[in-house]
Amino acid sequence: MTILQSQLTSWIEKYPLLKNVMDLEPVIWLNPNLQKMADMTGLPVNLEDMEQAERLWQRFAPYLATEFPETATVKGVVESPLREISNMKQQLQERWGGEIAGGLFLKCDNDLPIAGSIKARGGVYEVLHHAEKLAVEAGIISTEQSYEQFSSERFKQFFSQYSIGVGSTGNLGLSIGIISAKLGFQVSVYMSSDAKQWKKDLLREKGATVVEFRGDFSEAISAGRKETLAKTDAYFVDDEKSKHLFLGYSVAAFRLKRQLEEADIQVDEEHPLFVYLPCGVGGAPGGIAFGLRQVFGGAVHCFFVEPTHSPAVLIGLLTGEKEKVSVQDFGIDNVTEGDGLAVGRPSSFASGISEKTASGIYTVEDRELFALLTLLADSEEIFIEPSATAGLLGPLKILETDYTETNEIPLSAANHIVWATGGALVPKEEMDGFYQRGKAYLGG
Ligand SMILES: *Cc1c(COP(=O)(O)O)cnc(C)c1O
Repeated sequence: MTILQSQLTSWIEKYPLLKNVMDLEPVIWLNPNLQKMADMTGLPVNLEDMEQAERLWQRFAPYLATEFPETATVKGVVESPLREISNMKQQLQERWGGEIAGGLFLKCDNDLPIAGSIKARGGVYEVLHHAEKLAVEAGIISTEQSYEQFSSERFKQFFSQYSIGVGSTGNLGLSIGIISAKLGFQVSVYMSSDAKQWKKDLLREKGATVVEFRGDFSEAISAGRKETLAKTDAYFVDDEKSKHLFLGYSVAAFRLKRQLEEADIQVDEEHPLFVYLPCGVGGAPGGIAFGLRQVFGGAVHCFFVEPTHSPAVLIGLLTGEKEKVSVQDFGIDNVTEGDGLAVGRPSSFASGISEKTASGIYTVEDRELFALLTLLADSEEIFIEPSATAGLLGPLKILETDYTETNEIPLSAANHIVWATGGALVPKEEMDGFYQRGKAYLGG
């Protein structure tokens, strides 16, 4: 789609913030369409879908515990720790100014097993869902039997007749590639030009086929979709419109609820919870925000974060055009070093839901991602990838708005969760490079 100058002028008149977005300034946008909990009906997914997704994870837990020994001690549950980061809170206040009321926590999806990123939720779930469907339809398993059988040669032989494809900037490809190859599928990952070499190498080592593209993420997806669907017995994991990815992410809300209870952290109208989620196509933050709104209702406030150069979901929700517009339509280049965030066009499935569940979206500059990475490493000894740091500024960003005043939210009793979306698989030399860049930005 090309946007007419007259259309653009009228949007800018109607939404003045769009001008700042196009000028690549860091902004914060509050969602005027955020729905009260009572209106959560009419969405294409609901609480029952989330519960079904959780049960599927449970059925596969014995299989995952066998195939991924790092999950054995937790009996095959793919989940990450929640950690309080008080030192980092101190650093944020000192460096950026402002007072963060309440506790600051990191949801450590950077440490998720299997894929080392948030994609271990959505990506692994979608492949497991597909594998179960094939196996049940073929009559080789029923949902009452033990899924340890998925480890057997017989099952691997069975899945080797089927192929799976995915288009990815990196992390989604890693999760789909790793779990699909493990199950025995033939898997092809269509990578955009900005995908890192180490990710391609790792995928090949795990048994996936990597197909490289010159263009960006959307082109990798289009090409992957086309080539995959041309094959028989093939399944394409479609990041631009997947309901299963979305549901895989949403289950995080049940797990977080339990973790908060165990840590004695109250969440209700008097004790609001703020959650900050790095955003690419919007599937991961969308699924988690949807899940959290289902579980905590109006007591939870979810903010998405995008790079100033890739504000795809922001532009989609701000204009209401969602997947019909891309950042390139607005003269924005979609070039960022935040892996997983270099996305020009939002997911159609996720943005139709996030327009009702996201409290707002803010943007950050790449240099801030590196600075935050180094600060977190120094203050907490936690190493996460640049994109995963984007949420750390959230508790300060919301102070620039009238969000809490307008909605009468008691900020002094709030807690803040920054969703750290990836990092564990990043090679040490790469991480050292990120760290040094952050040091330079911080001034020595
Ligand atoms: C994929 C990814 C995200 C965002 O997920 P979307 O579903 O694309 O919005 C955030 N951080 C990291 C590290 C990711 O890999």
